[in-house]
Amino acid sequence: MEKRRKWMVILLLLFGLLPHIDAAEKKRVALTFDDGPCAKSTAYLLQGLRDRGVHATFFLSGYRIDSDPEDALQIASEGHEIGIHGQTHAYFRGIGRERLEGEILSVGNKIEALTGETPKLARPPGGLMDDQVKQFCKDNDLALILWSVDPEDWDPKKRAQTASSVVSKAKDGDIILLHDLTTANADQAFAIIDRLKVAGYEFCTVSELAESCGKELCCGESYFRF
Ligand SMILES: [Zn+2]
Repeated sequence: MEKRRKWMVILLLLFGLLPHIDAAEKKRVALTFDDGPCAKSTAYLLQGLRDRGVHATFFLSGYRIDSDPEDALQIASEGHEIGIHGQTHAYFRGIGRERLEGEILSVGNKIEALTGETPKLARPPGGLMDDQVKQFCKDNDLALILWSVDPEDWDPKKRAQTASSVVSKAKDGDIILLHDLTTANADQAFAIIDRLKVAGYEFCTVSELAESCGKELCCGESYFRF
């Protein structure tokens, strides 16, 4: 009788605890793709993300939007989040207010004209910024999004190791930096998704990740992870 009661207690504890363990183990990361759109890779990347039911955040370059507006529009149409990555890919740090307007606001206007959405996020090329960049973003309602995992997939020599590098480092709340440059880059992104899903990860946009962590994105502030 005593033994049976013990088992009952253990079973009740297990059933009571399991849902909590489940909730605690829910892990999320945000994939971010820089330097697009790209006529060679964006459509391929979007197809793979669609197949996997994943939404990501794309930081677009203005000069790339100019030459490939259709793909920029397609990114938005498929429900991905879009942020600003500068007009010419010049570093934002030290360039002064006037050039910041050309690098940041002109791209924001292009994205808005194309998609009807005003971007709320900016990513400085190379992650380089200073107080003036932060103040400029604060004045123009933009949060600065950096990253916590960087496999340097822009480098052809490191590209084939992108997925292994990311999977070995990823933790709940990470912002992962990838590039929309070639179909080989996209294939590595798909491998990351497939392998991290098996490990229990979910994928969302940067804004969704911040929200799910209860963090408000403040203009002019920079974020590396949540
Ligand atoms: Zn870039």
